Amino acid sequence: MTESKARVLIAGAGPVGLVAAVSLLEKGIPVTVLEASADLAVDLRASTFHPPTLDFLSDLGLADGLIERGIKCPHWQFRDRQEGEIATFDLGLLASETDHPYRLQAEQWKLTEAARQRLEDEPDAELITDISVDEYAQDSDGVTVTARRKTGEAEMFRAAYLIGADGARSAVRKATGVAFPGLTIPEIFLSLSTPFRYDRAIAGLADICYISDPEEWFVLLRTPTLWRVLFPTDPSLSDEAVLDPVRIEERMQSVLPGEPYEIAHKTAYRVHERVADSYVHGRVFLAGDAAHLNNPLGGMGMNGGIHDAVNLTEKLAQVWRGEPIELMGRYERQRRKVALETVQAQALRNRALLNETDPEKRRAHHDKLRATVSDPKQHLAYVMRSSMIQSLRDLKDVA
Ligand SMILES: Cc1cc2nc3c(=O)[nH]c(=O)nc-3n(C[C@H](O)[C@H](O)[C@H](O)COP(=O)(O)OP(=O)(O)OC[C@H]3O[C@@H](n4cnc5c(N)ncnc54)[C@H](O)[C@@H]3O)c2cc1C
Repeated sequence: MTESKARVLIAGAGPVGLVAAVSLLEKGIPVTVLEASADLAVDLRASTFHPPTLDFLSDLGLADGLIERGIKCPHWQFRDRQEGEIATFDLGLLASETDHPYRLQAEQWKLTEAARQRLEDEPDAELITDISVDEYAQDSDGVTVTARRKTGEAEMFRAAYLIGADGARSAVRKATGVAFPGLTIPEIFLSLSTPFRYDRAIAGLADICYISDPEEWFVLLRTPTLWRVLFPTDPSLSDEAVLDPVRIEERMQSVLPGEPYEIAHKTAYRVHERVADSYVHGRVFLAGDAAHLNNPLGGMGMNGGIHDAVNLTEKLAQVWRGEPIELMGRYERQRRKVALETVQAQALRNRALLNETDPEKRRAHHDKLRATVSDPKQHLAYVMRSSMIQSLRDLKDVA
């Protein structure tokens, strides 16, 4: 058994686990991160950092390098496939609310890479890869975690607390036995990345665009090296059919006809909308995708998970210094409320609006968006919500 009561164990070296680790280290609390994979994920996943997430990362010394390697996007757009621009939202209106009045487009692996670097520089931090957390037991003194090497060999770790940041299929969540209610979205999401420069081909296009269409909506997102096109896809098709290069080319041509597209990366994934019934189980806490899942429309999954990590570690540091453990209940009350009432509600609304086929309802929605951006007060309120600042401000009302 690797015994060190005086540390926090974290299952999972994704953005949430690693931000939690850096945050605890900043507060003088030693951490051990256990990661199932041999190395950190470098595939294309979340690519948007919202303003308050950048504020948090800046406090942890993780923002500067990320900002240098990303694209600052002060605007995002809602467009219609036929009509073009409907509304352009201006994050510059947030200048007095945040140090980062823009969305940063940067791949999430750039954050995990920077966080890993910080762990390597700290004597009080350990990152152990190639080891999967299986289960845990807890007593009044601490938590004992059983983890397994790929060879099947078990290893035991003892710590004061355990954070389950081990993603959608969280073993920690399963070991708590907590329910994870919600639904699986009917459509598959197909994400295609291309070096094609949509910004040079479509006049007035913002770097982040949601494009509605009664037949097939899509999202255009710029990353530092590629543009990503996200399509909803018929779930009755096999993975081979969804990823078929001929069909992919047809879909890309339907966005903008021209030369054949080079596809640098393609992935099709099922999306869930779920929130765990509880996040706190004695000395064991859930955060990020382990605690909640939602569709990527609005880019709130990873951002909400990072906000969990910051909230959780602030409270855990107080408990570490002698406050009663009941304080952690406030972490759950605050962050579950955001997951249900802000992230899930907004992501579902975004999806419903893009999926709308009724011409009158579509027109009414477009008119509402136009009216919102033309009224400074409504515009500000909208970007406060969509940038997730409002959800953090509202937390002070949650006891
Ligand atoms: C293909 C794909 C595309 C996505 N695209 C978008 C997008 O466009 N926009 C968006 O906002 N979000 C997107 N997401 C979601 C986003 O990536 C997640 O919200 C974010 O990664 C959550 O971070 P996390 O740290 O909670 O979990 P993860 O990033 O999943 O990290 C969990 C870590 O835990 C490790 N792990 C798992 N089980 C164990 C175990 N038993 N023991 C130890 N370690 C374990 C995993 O290997 C992983 O490193 C996408 C996700 C995927 C999979």
